Amino acid sequence: MSLGRALPQCSVCGERAIYIDRASGRAYCRRHFVERFEARAKENIRRHGMLGKRERIAVGVSGGKDSLALLYFLWKLSKRNPGWEVVAIVVDEGIAGYRERTIENFKRVNARLGVPYRVVSFKESFGYTLDEIIRMSSERGLGVLPCAYCGVFRRYLLNRAAREMGATVLAIAHNADDMAQTFLMNLGSATLERLARLGPVSGVASHEKFVRRIRPFYNIPEKEVALYALLHDLIEPEYNQCPYVVYNVRHKIRGMLNRLEDDFPGFKASLVRSFERLLPVLRERFAPRGEIGTCKICGEPSSHDVCRACTYRLQLGILDSGLLRFHVPAKT
Ligand code: SF4
Ligand code: ZN
Repeated sequence: MSLGRALPQCSVCGERAIYIDRASGRAYCRRHFVERFEARAKENIRRHGMLGKRERIAVGVSGGKDSLALLYFLWKLSKRNPGWEVVAIVVDEGIAGYRERTIENFKRVNARLGVPYRVVSFKESFGYTLDEIIRMSSERGLGVLPCAYCGVFRRYLLNRAAREMGATVLAIAHNADDMAQTFLMNLGSATLERLARLGPVSGVASHEKFVRRIRPFYNIPEKEVALYALLHDLIEPEYNQCPYVVYNVRHKIRGMLNRLEDDFPGFKASLVRSFERLLPVLRERFAPRGEIGTCKICGEPSSHDVCRACTYRLQLGILDSGLLRFHVPAKT
């Protein structure tokens, strides 16, 4: 009697496969899935010159699958590269019922890795949690979406914390799905300047307070990052989603791209490849070169007189809250 469809075999060794790459039709056993995954990420690091011989790498961690997979991968690499040291920055936005659980998960995983880390919270840094900021914004009728505050304040804190921890580079866990979504979102809002700053390695402009950003997983599909995390016991099987995700245009684009990928395997990867090919042109035309400016209020890097984080704080009326330090320009 047939027991149903035969289990697929690994295209490399013939062992039982655990993953099939629908775009290529190739199947992989656990060992060859992990080998291929890590080889791709290492190749990204090499091809884009993401890391030099000596680096202090700060990994931006939320406690979810992507950031823990990146932390684990870089931690593993650093064991074989004595010039590389890994630290983690955990951002606590203050999202009740959600972020506490992912931070707990980070601590569970890190008990194994022992990576030095720092938790930076919106509450301590700005005086308010993201939940409180969203309430204040809606009372003032500002019409700013939760993810806009979350993204701007998170990037701001990650850069500042990475610098304060002496990091030479900040590693961000964006995967191919994130990149494809961001590509379409920025095309849809005609924000090509933002697209030009994206990419495997952050844009061409520099600032003494800006920590270079790298994205070693930028062309690896989200489901492969999730499987890598699962195989290394980095995530709780229970699904945990941010309550604000539904307000995000990214959420809609994500659904649309997943449907397209189902019908046309490889569609997302092609979008990421197109973005990579367009990047030199976008940077040439839309990215600032040389030194970027400094925010007149907080002294952090900014392409405008006042950075986006300070603009939001001004609008919310919370500029003098928290640990904000006013920037005093050096005397000339
Ligand atoms: Fe922040 Fe939006 Fe992501 Fe929630 S869904 S963590 S609010 S960016
Ligand atoms: Zn500022």
